Amino acid sequence: MDESLFRLAIFGGVFLLCMVAEFARPKRPWRESRLRRWLINLGLILLNTVCVRLTLGALAVTAAVWAEQENVGLFRWFALEGPMAHILGFIILDAAIWFQHWLSHQWSWLWRLHRVHHMDLDLDVTTALRFHPIEIILSLLYKAALVILLGVDPLTVLVFEAVLNAAAIFTHANIRLPSGVDRVLRWLVCTPDMHRIHHSIYPNETNSNYGFFLSVWDRIFKVYSVEPKDSPETMVLGLEDYQHQQELGLKALLVSPFNFELKKTLRRE
Ligand SMILES: [Zn+2]
Repeated sequence: MDESLFRLAIFGGVFLLCMVAEFARPKRPWRESRLRRWLINLGLILLNTVCVRLTLGALAVTAAVWAEQENVGLFRWFALEGPMAHILGFIILDAAIWFQHWLSHQWSWLWRLHRVHHMDLDLDVTTALRFHPIEIILSLLYKAALVILLGVDPLTVLVFEAVLNAAAIFTHANIRLPSGVDRVLRWLVCTPDMHRIHHSIYPNETNSNYGFFLSVWDRIFKVYSVEPKDSPETMVLGLEDYQHQQELGLKALLVSPFNFELKKTLRRE
């Protein structure tokens, strides 16, 4: 199957499935106008698609193909191949994305970019793709460098990216899972109830549950929150200083990392 068709099929399928589930079994009532938020989020998604497609494309897979042709990367130097290389490559990439997310909450310039994602006042499938274009580009460069350093094979990178994309859509979806299902899933993967805590207005909750796919990293690094302080149905989402949707238009979000007036309101702890 063609690589972009594979990505599109996974992305489109999971996006539609989660969107239908949001309408059928929403966890929370939407606080803001969906149309307004969606226009902003879709604007960012469109911009990111154009930015990424025109400049970098499927950079991580391209990097993996290059590393394979040039025979570089730690896995190849240590003769690690077969299923073990696929599994280890996948797990290390997931840990690296967790680390990148954690770092985005620690370094002020990364946080300036990443907080665009946290300024969404509701959570739904569109939030999963709402990122500042510069954060998307930095993320692609980081992933490509890591793929070359490790020498992860192209198939593992392609599968990892598709799974991560699907996981991000699922964890941001406003869906009500039966509590038993949520509990069981959490042992292996992140769930919407788990990730919603990361979007809480309380900084100590925002600085927890960084995972997108495997839930193990938050437990290992002791930043796992089991449940939010307030009810999951009514807890306030977003950042304390940015609670007015009319101030969070597309243009304001795009310039927000460079807006020094906003610096004093930077909150990370
Ligand atoms: Zn975050």
